Amino acid sequence: MFQIPVKGEGKAEVLQRIRDLQEADVSWKEGRTWSMVYYIDEDHLQLIKEAYGAYLSENFLNPFAFQGLRKMEEELIRMGVSLLNGDEQSTGTMTSGGTESIFLAVYAYRQRARALRPRIKAPEMVAPASIHPAFDKACHLLGIKLRKAPLAQDFRADPRQMERLINANTILLAASSPSYPHGLLDPIEAIADIALRRGLPMHVDACIGGFMLPWVERLGASLPPWDFRVNGVTSMSADLHKFGYAAKGASLILYREPEFLKYQFYVATDWPGGIYASTTMLGTRPGGAVSAAWAAMMALGQEGYLRVAGEIMEGVARLKTALAGMEDLEVIGEPVMNIVAFTTRRNQPDIFVVADQLEARGWVVDRQQSPNCLHLTLMRYNIPVLDQYAADLKEALDFARNNPRAVSQGNAAMYGLMARIPFRGVVEKNVRRLFEELYNFSSVMRVSDSPQTSSKDHSSFNPAPWIGKLNRFLTGWFAFKTWLKGKKIKE
Ligand SMILES: *Cc1c(COP(=O)(O)O)cnc(C)c1O
Repeated sequence: MFQIPVKGEGKAEVLQRIRDLQEADVSWKEGRTWSMVYYIDEDHLQLIKEAYGAYLSENFLNPFAFQGLRKMEEELIRMGVSLLNGDEQSTGTMTSGGTESIFLAVYAYRQRARALRPRIKAPEMVAPASIHPAFDKACHLLGIKLRKAPLAQDFRADPRQMERLINANTILLAASSPSYPHGLLDPIEAIADIALRRGLPMHVDACIGGFMLPWVERLGASLPPWDFRVNGVTSMSADLHKFGYAAKGASLILYREPEFLKYQFYVATDWPGGIYASTTMLGTRPGGAVSAAWAAMMALGQEGYLRVAGEIMEGVARLKTALAGMEDLEVIGEPVMNIVAFTTRRNQPDIFVVADQLEARGWVVDRQQSPNCLHLTLMRYNIPVLDQYAADLKEALDFARNNPRAVSQGNAAMYGLMARIPFRGVVEKNVRRLFEELYNFSSVMRVSDSPQTSSKDHSSFNPAPWIGKLNRFLTGWFAFKTWLKGKKIKE
């Protein structure tokens, strides 16, 4: 059994071991990944490391104990409020990430509904199908039914479809600025109108857009209002650890008025350990996440954020031009920032075969479903490799076009299959099994059982043999359907 080493090792050796383990990670700095790491340069990274270190051990559970952290949190909230066009009344808290921000908003609105509308026994909320799964998770944990409205033709939220799902149990509406899957701005004004008319609160998820869209607007894009400028928007989530370029573990939940925030707080009064009060979901809160986020804003300033956003948006323009030059490709909707999803027209050739080809050329590819498409978040480190990406994408498309019988392979096949199986329960069971295997350390999938290995074994998971068979069957079936459609069009 692997255990804490009896004798500790030297610091240098331990740090070297970490570097060795990092060899197995995706090498995002080379720009072949299009998500996950929000990075400007080494200089900024060093700054947030040092700033995090300054409060590495302090616990921000009690905001009265560490006045320095409290001051920084207050300033972060106020900077967030002014950036998102709230007013003097607006307030909120810092959280550990988008999921916590969203969880807290849904929790606060549930508590508020319990207080103000006690007749509701089975609360529900309404959101578009593109809303982030953090809402599914929050609703799951909080016993709320999440009703999802189908998207409009342009893949944005459809206010009419949303309104149809409102009933006497509805406690909250939500939409995204912009949506994660396609980077599209939901029609916030129209949905907020419904919220006002129905006397409902509305949350805008700006986890990814909150610290990017303001600069995109200042760079000259004219967007319909998407934040607190819209009357009827009662809260917003915005992630500091995305385009705020803070250290991981940092987000903001902001409310238009303190009236909403107050439902977020929790107090336990009869614990032998004393009176326990907390402002967010966490108990112990990392002080370093606060000081690193604060340092990022102080050091970059509005000019710094604007400069980086400008570089990124120039890259986006180049990427869009490259995509427009490839005849079979189409971008999904009209992306407003640096998130772009694209696919092939009528999925000819199969976009997942294109994905395999990109992977074979060393790119990390994010696949999406309904519709099948590929997802890019363009970061600063992707800019130097944009031309290479475009060239490889062109080759991948040529391959897929010249090999119409190719089916997606490996991990891609697994994903493609999962995306197409109509029985979502089967999919859930299989994905759950992946996690169960990953954390079952006596099984074959273990990452390492000795401190010497830093293997990549976890990527070689073998799905059940029937998956291959079913995939071949479904691939055949979809090929047949496509062929039939083509025949009909010709006739
Ligand atoms: C990232 C993201 C979330 C979830 O945030 P985490 O920080 O991953 O917990 C929610 N909504 C959107 C739109 C996001 O991009």
